Amino acid sequence: SDLLLEATDLAKHYNVSRGLFKPKATVKALAGVSFTLKPRKTLAVVGESGCGKSTLARQLTLIEPPTRGSLKIRGTDAATADDKTLKALRRDVQMVFQNPFASLNPRKTVATTLAEPLLINTPLSAAERQERVEQLATKVGLRPEHLRRYPHMFSGGQRQRIAIARAMILNPGIVVADEPVSALDVSIQAQILNLFMDLQDEFGTGYVFISHNLSVVEHVADDVMVMYLGAAVEVGAKKTLFAQPLHPYTRALMSATPALRAADRRERIVIHGELPSPLNPPSGCSFHRRCPLAVPRCAQEVPLLREVQGRQVACHVV
Ligand code: SF4
Ligand code: MG
Repeated sequence: SDLLLEATDLAKHYNVSRGLFKPKATVKALAGVSFTLKPRKTLAVVGESGCGKSTLARQLTLIEPPTRGSLKIRGTDAATADDKTLKALRRDVQMVFQNPFASLNPRKTVATTLAEPLLINTPLSAAERQERVEQLATKVGLRPEHLRRYPHMFSGGQRQRIAIARAMILNPGIVVADEPVSALDVSIQAQILNLFMDLQDEFGTGYVFISHNLSVVEHVADDVMVMYLGAAVEVGAKKTLFAQPLHPYTRALMSATPALRAADRRERIVIHGELPSPLNPPSGCSFHRRCPLAVPRCAQEVPLLREVQGRQVACHVV
């Protein structure tokens, strides 16, 4: 199989306490999502905070087991992998986090930060490690003298370059990037996105790019999965979704992005109200209390993903 990732009905539920004398509630943080990722491709996962994006990232990095469904990494089912295989799979999926100020150890030089994964995971000699570190530092736009410095001596954009180098140092098949540019100045964001794209071209890495910013998504994605309250509501090729978003939630997100509003030539859709509590999700379509197109059926029946105009949509009226 040439798939880097294959998620099938992947779900994660948490039991949360609601108080000492109440039964625990089940939160469906991830309600069952399916997707694939190929080498050199970027799947963007879009949604508000609380939509399940971070839970999905924890699933992909094999931090906790799913409640249901399966995840295959390069064809190997994580659920049945032995410890040695699991270790190799974890090495193959690396993370880049939102905040480059928090994700780097302030006490370690850039050289140490980058060399550490090589020391732990490879038989490379010190000289070989140094060569690999220097090679990758150059690729992410750092200079040799930067390697001796500490994280606090760098700007946010440069720190994110260091974090990206660390994620790439073992040449992983997959990088999960969680809002990797949203903490950076707008002027720096494009540079970092272009760096991601260049590294993907060179190494063939597949990206799962978590972002609420549709301008960012338009820049980097091949495929897009829009999530709402733990479920995928629209999934398809970026070109298809951006040319004509169909799900009311996708349309609302796009019409809230001024640069994209022209793409959806229909009327602007404004969503009212807050994201509902996942502790007490609405019946039927979980978007129905905020959806301007809701019909009575929406409060009764959960819409399932189905093929509409070349992509998958979960909506009764589309
Ligand atoms: Fe809106 Fe109904 Fe579609 Fe849900 S199923 S998005 S409530 S129209
Ligand atoms: Mg690409």
